[in-house]
Amino acid sequence: MEIYSVIEDKVRKGIRLSRADGVALFACQDVAWLGMLADLVRQRISGDYVYFNVNRHINLTNICTARCRFCAFGCDADSQQSYEMTKEQVLAIAAQAAQDPALRELHIVSGLHPTWPLAYYFDIIASLKAKFPHLHLKAFTAVEIHYFAKQAGITIEETLRRFKAAGVDSLPGGGAEILSDRVREQLCPNKANSEEWLAVAKAAHQMGLRSNASMLYGHVETMEERVDHLLALRELQDETDGFQTFICFPFHPKNTELNEAVRRTSLWDEMKTMAISRLLLDNFRNIKAYWVMLTLPVAQLSLGFGANDIDGTVSEEKIIHAAGGKAETSLSQAAIIRTIRETGRIPVERDSMYNIIRVLE
Ligand code: SF4
Repeated sequence: MEIYSVIEDKVRKGIRLSRADGVALFACQDVAWLGMLADLVRQRISGDYVYFNVNRHINLTNICTARCRFCAFGCDADSQQSYEMTKEQVLAIAAQAAQDPALRELHIVSGLHPTWPLAYYFDIIASLKAKFPHLHLKAFTAVEIHYFAKQAGITIEETLRRFKAAGVDSLPGGGAEILSDRVREQLCPNKANSEEWLAVAKAAHQMGLRSNASMLYGHVETMEERVDHLLALRELQDETDGFQTFICFPFHPKNTELNEAVRRTSLWDEMKTMAISRLLLDNFRNIKAYWVMLTLPVAQLSLGFGANDIDGTVSEEKIIHAAGGKAETSLSQAAIIRTIRETGRIPVERDSMYNIIRVLE
């Protein structure tokens, strides 16, 4: 059809795609063509390099006031599954993880705890930074920052400034879900709305804290809402250039309230969405295939659909696995390197800011 040859021409010439192009791409079922176009862009931006890092996830608590309908991780304080980590426990986990000399990053996200004071989080971050100054602390999503600020009665900027002073180096990209208030009203009305999520990301970027961006798709959103979500991220990236990478998360319905109502996304949809994200987000350098969410074979396939990053070793991921995620909870470096090499690409170990540590030619 005419529109698809126009889109291909635009991509080949490096011309930005419009909203109408994005909607047309989601209507397209020629997944091989979408992959070919996305791969062209990926090759242009990062050649044959595929990035990974050595990191450890820490989820401080699963007690959460928001209780989003799509989440199997958050729970009430009186639930049998609830847990809270003390500072000593967090430091012990970090110390154990830091025995691996290759570890470079702690990725810290949690539920929105009803009573923990902001000082508790500052103390954890400052203590981690003091004991492990070589580790990059990627901590607290825009949703958490928004919640902390509201709880403490201070501004977003002040909250971020204090976390930065305590030792936070960058922000993870979670909590964006779909940046549509229609969707958020249905699924997660008790946390930051679209505008608030974007405002936190913008404030972080303006004070030199880089962050990631994400999209949780495959629940109640329309294809137009996926496109609008991607364009909202692209617009903010034009303004701040503060996003490091984009991660798209297919929704896992198991153990969530939506289990009966929503089917797990198909591989077809996952590859289409990966490719279209690469095509629309022309100002993002990196598109991550998060193997924890996708499973390793699907993450590997994603490298042919626009992804140039496969995340890290992770260790003990809890949030996706609570919703029935089937991937391992951690991966060895050797397994990641092998997975990348099997695609004919070059594994590149990076730090959290995408500086190259080593190229494994
Ligand atoms: S997605 Fe985050 S904010 Fe929502 S219930 Fe789960 S842990 Fe809480």
